[in-house]
Amino acid sequence: VLRYAHKGAAHTSFSSQAPGKERTLIVVKPDGVQRRLVGRIIQRFEQRGFKMVGLKMLQVSEDLLSNHYRQLRMKPFYSDLVQYMTSGPVVVMAWEGHQVIQSSRNMVGQTNPAEAQAGTVRGDFSLHVSRNVVHASDSPEGALRELQLWFRGQELLDWECIDESITCE
Ligand code: ADP
Repeated sequence: VLRYAHKGAAHTSFSSQAPGKERTLIVVKPDGVQRRLVGRIIQRFEQRGFKMVGLKMLQVSEDLLSNHYRQLRMKPFYSDLVQYMTSGPVVVMAWEGHQVIQSSRNMVGQTNPAEAQAGTVRGDFSLHVSRNVVHASDSPEGALRELQLWFRGQELLDWECIDESITCE
């Protein structure tokens, strides 16, 4: 019997120490949405074995961005970055799985696409650091902070994927 257990909002967590239950934030930036790359980016995470636990499309506010990129506010490129990130809708995702934070940074590639390896999202789909298609949280602390910033608790779902016992251990 397939049981798709949605355990409900009360059990939803932004992060977990449980093995295989790590969570991270991935954002397809406006250039990725405009270029219709959303499906291919989702496919890479699915085929790797990660589980989608949150998904939505939205127009980012400057408030959210200034919080998200608060460490970059003094950078010379900051105003261009805000303009870029607010230039159109983004697709925001939460992914769960074994060491998903580190793995997804590797799948996304270096910040500057010229330094990103072929096979990474940025290495395959982008040329310039100011249009690098996708965001991925860079640490457990960053992932927790960013998931709390971009999602409400009830937007993240706990559910069981029937192949988890095969892909995770
Ligand atoms: P990452 O997104 O790989 O974690 P950073 O946190 O350093 O990298 O930068 C956040 C985002 O700011 C980058 O993904 C990119 O969109 C933009 N950015 C970083 N450096 C530059 C730069 N030198 N010029 C323009 N945009 C930049």
